Amino acid sequence: IAKAEEGVAWHRGSCRLCGVGCRVELGVKDGTPIGLRGVSESRTNFGYVCMKGMHFWKCMRHPDRLTKPLYREKKTDKFKEISWEQALDIAATKFAEAHKAGGGKAVAYYGSGQALTEETYFFQKVMRGGLQSNNVEGNPRLCMASAVGGYLTSFGADEPIGGYSDIEKAHCFFIIGSNTAEAHPVLFRRIMRRKLDNPNDVKVINVDPRVSQTSRIADKHLQFKPGTDLALLNGMANVIIQEKLYDEGFVTTYTSFKKGKGEESNFDEYAAQVAKYTPEMVAKTCGDAFTADDVREVARWFATSKGTLSLWTMGLNQRKQGVWANNLMHNLHILTGQLMKDGADSLSLTGQPNACGGVREGGGLCHILPGHRPIEVEKLRNQVETAWGVPAGRIPEKPGMHTMAMFSAVNEGAIKAIWINCTSPVQSLPNCTLYNKGMDREDVFIVCTDIFHTLTTKKANLVLPTAFHFEKTGVYGCTERRSQLTRKAIDSPGDARPEVWIIREWAKKLAEKMNDPVITQCIKPFEGLEEGYALPKAIWDEYSQKLTANRDNDLRGATYKVLEQMADGVQWPAPTEEYALTGGTVKKFVKGRDPMADSESKNDLPYQFYGPAHPDRKLWIWQREQADPEEIPDAEYPFYLSTGRIIDHWHTMSMTGRVPELLRANPYAYVEVNPKDAAKLGIKPGDMVEVKSRRGVNLLPAKVYEGPIEGMVFVYWHDQHEDRMINKVTKDAYDPGSKEPEFKICAVQVKRVSGP
Ligand code: SF4
Repeated sequence: IAKAEEGVAWHRGSCRLCGVGCRVELGVKDGTPIGLRGVSESRTNFGYVCMKGMHFWKCMRHPDRLTKPLYREKKTDKFKEISWEQALDIAATKFAEAHKAGGGKAVAYYGSGQALTEETYFFQKVMRGGLQSNNVEGNPRLCMASAVGGYLTSFGADEPIGGYSDIEKAHCFFIIGSNTAEAHPVLFRRIMRRKLDNPNDVKVINVDPRVSQTSRIADKHLQFKPGTDLALLNGMANVIIQEKLYDEGFVTTYTSFKKGKGEESNFDEYAAQVAKYTPEMVAKTCGDAFTADDVREVARWFATSKGTLSLWTMGLNQRKQGVWANNLMHNLHILTGQLMKDGADSLSLTGQPNACGGVREGGGLCHILPGHRPIEVEKLRNQVETAWGVPAGRIPEKPGMHTMAMFSAVNEGAIKAIWINCTSPVQSLPNCTLYNKGMDREDVFIVCTDIFHTLTTKKANLVLPTAFHFEKTGVYGCTERRSQLTRKAIDSPGDARPEVWIIREWAKKLAEKMNDPVITQCIKPFEGLEEGYALPKAIWDEYSQKLTANRDNDLRGATYKVLEQMADGVQWPAPTEEYALTGGTVKKFVKGRDPMADSESKNDLPYQFYGPAHPDRKLWIWQREQADPEEIPDAEYPFYLSTGRIIDHWHTMSMTGRVPELLRANPYAYVEVNPKDAAKLGIKPGDMVEVKSRRGVNLLPAKVYEGPIEGMVFVYWHDQHEDRMINKVTKDAYDPGSKEPEFKICAVQVKRVSGP
């Protein structure tokens, strides 16, 4: 080992993939990455990494890396290599022209939960402060906007109260709409360890229409007909009330009751509303795959455990009733007081490494400014304008376009120039054939910044090669309010450059072409700074020091200096460096909590954060009824389709599809069919099967096993192949509040086409 390690330098950072935030070290020898390992001091992953995390570095030097700016005037032309000078000039010219034609509404930025916070923050600063456009969006709209809506409406503030440290103290896990074992493997390992070490003292409940690796460790797995889980959550609340298992003191002290759009309600009204969800009614509504006694039993486990930790992801979020589903999840925690104590939390897991830090907190969605500021509040807009030194009123007062509206506007040609950073909407939007049309228009100019060609770069006019992870410096903020720094360890191949440099140089040209000194003002603090460290640090300093002060995500203590010292980073709020060096705040809303203590609170901390953030300082329990998804099976389209992730791949496979080990493990998508349905349809394992909706069709090999509940098929969404791109089939209905699409449920035909 010593010989193999000779000359190898290990550089610490965060994993580039899912939202767990595992701390890793990249081994570099002679300027080339040679391996990756987990950081054993990390209290997030304790040295472990999953197979995706372990292998992703292998795509860093893949021959497909984009290394030169590429341009074509017409989308039917071939790309040709051009210089950075030419590329930035073209990008600035096209954005200036689009702006002249239609103002801020005609330009857009579509980003990613994989971009560093500095990148998202800087892009949105130039868009809002420079181009006066709130068309700043990102792919987290597709995966966790409903979680944001749920936290805001139930708790009055975005992001969870607790975090991962509750896992080791929980006595009941309620995992709903999440295949944690495959989507968040290292976190699942902690849950499994907790269960295996305490088999009689810890219960695991899994609620999912599909048998998964997660359900295999469950004491009770409730399978249900897709789209009926709101009835189950209401039914559990009903049992808890009927059997007087709720925490009366907690409810009296901390709770308000709401209905409709926020009208006042009360406990009795709420109890009457959920009373119709009897265990018998719930079991029937959910498809009779579990019994009324199962509902009673899980409700009792949930309410009476010494600490209940709920975890969910897309199963609740990617729904037309996504915010309501989140509300109902929070209701159970508020009702039972399973919050703000050890082992108890209502914890929405994040899909991407920086969806929370960069996009939710850094201003990367169309309706929010940095520091969780709602854009419509003038005072809050003015705070941002003051911090940037731009004139009052510079930021438009109305939110920009959310994702589905943005790509509809591209379809219509109303958006004339769009910058797509580090994401591939051509593959990841629901009903993607419809939303891809506009990207072929010759009058829509598309810039993509990425490390590889994707299905989206192939529709662009200009493709700019960017630095990859560990080739640049910046911060990721993971699921549990934790910010972590990754420093540049190696140079990028060819002419690839960090986004922060690209934005600054583009904005410089934009200012010249538009003759607008306010754009110059937006980049002035960052002029002349070296791109590997000084530039991202200056951007982080501006954001954290000027725009998170006295906000709930106070990051003033999480300076680069502090983050470099912390194995795991810092959980906000963390207003001073001294406090941040203790790790930050483990439980927000809890006065004087010692972040590193196992149980007892200390009261000598410099920072105390009092109570929830609704104006009445209460947590809100909402009346929300069971409601059907937008599309349910009928005689013509008789099956439910649900989509999801598998352990070996990540998003659109642009990275994991280039790692031989991961590609071999799962080379292509398939359709999972329940054996009873397969028998009815004459489908055998390996047969080619057509999965067709009203929007599109896939041709997929069949996997026949008792995974999906009868009447439902399942397909993972990573595959880029034309015949297996399942978002051609999914539906583009979305939650009216969060605007998050309903990827999880639509109606399809399933037909055997040929043998293996
Ligand atoms: Fe990376 Fe997520 Fe795997 Fe951790 S669990 S190594 S963050 S992909």
